[in-house]
Amino acid sequence: MKIKKNSIRLAPTDLGKHLSCRHLTGLDYLRAKGERKPQLPVLPLAETLQRLGEKHEADYVEHLKRSGRQIVQIRKPDEKVRDAELLAATVVAMKQGAEIIYQGALADDLFFGLPDFLRRMDEAGKPTGPDGFYRYEVLDTKLSRETRAGSVLQLAVYSHMLAQTQKSDLPARMIVVQPGGPDNAFQEDVYQTAHFSAFYRQVRARLVGSVAALDGGPLETEPDPVEHCNLCLWRADCYRFWKDADHLSLVAGITRLQRRVLVENGIETLAALAKLPVPLPQSFELKRGTMASLLRSREQARVQDRGRTELYFET
Ligand code: SF4
Repeated sequence: MKIKKNSIRLAPTDLGKHLSCRHLTGLDYLRAKGERKPQLPVLPLAETLQRLGEKHEADYVEHLKRSGRQIVQIRKPDEKVRDAELLAATVVAMKQGAEIIYQGALADDLFFGLPDFLRRMDEAGKPTGPDGFYRYEVLDTKLSRETRAGSVLQLAVYSHMLAQTQKSDLPARMIVVQPGGPDNAFQEDVYQTAHFSAFYRQVRARLVGSVAALDGGPLETEPDPVEHCNLCLWRADCYRFWKDADHLSLVAGITRLQRRVLVENGIETLAALAKLPVPLPQSFELKRGTMASLLRSREQARVQDRGRTELYFET
């Protein structure tokens, strides 16, 4: 996410991040406005994964070259080129029918991004798109064997921007290139674009709505732990919030559902859970989940709470 001269530019990854955590969208918005910075600017795990991802992408480029594919690279490393120039160069490459466009640029009224690869679907010399465009489909290299919702959303926004740029129908397919495959090189995970369009539009609308609400308004969300926290740049900031609030998420192994049930019953901190009488008061409403698992978390909270003031081990 970037804000320049009061105009916002969203990145395709903002969709997946918003899907994981609304609070993250708020923090990224404040960062883009220059009002907040993450306490830890670099997360070693995220950096390592990024390096491995870049290697996977570079290996795929080599694989394409060895297979004799013609590659036109739009954005070159260490080259400072304006977004508008990248977009224009991508359009030229699509009209000329480059077989593979590597690091091209696509945009619409809100999003700008560089899809890893655009692959020509038409035969050379036979463009079938409007205005002399060759038709393309979007490929993204991903290390993970399991494609996540965020990756599909990324491919979907690229596919929609591609259709808009070419004034054509949506490309039928979108493809994740993963390690592995029959020759132990790469395998393609193919998704039908139309199957994910409604999901993409829904998440996009939610993201755009959140950003609009943040424009001039306060940050109203609070951090709530999710899987993405492990890779999130704001992890240290959110952990500080949880620690200061003695947040229920500090209880090891507690689930989101249990936290919700506890908050509904007025138990909002680790200390309060540790002191919850057992058996639970009659007024306690357990609308979801099981009593046994809730009591396990209560016991865990008790052990952790006691360990804060004395050296204490359960035997
Ligand atoms: S650390 Fe977790 S809760 Fe905080 S912004 Fe990131 S994903 Fe959201």
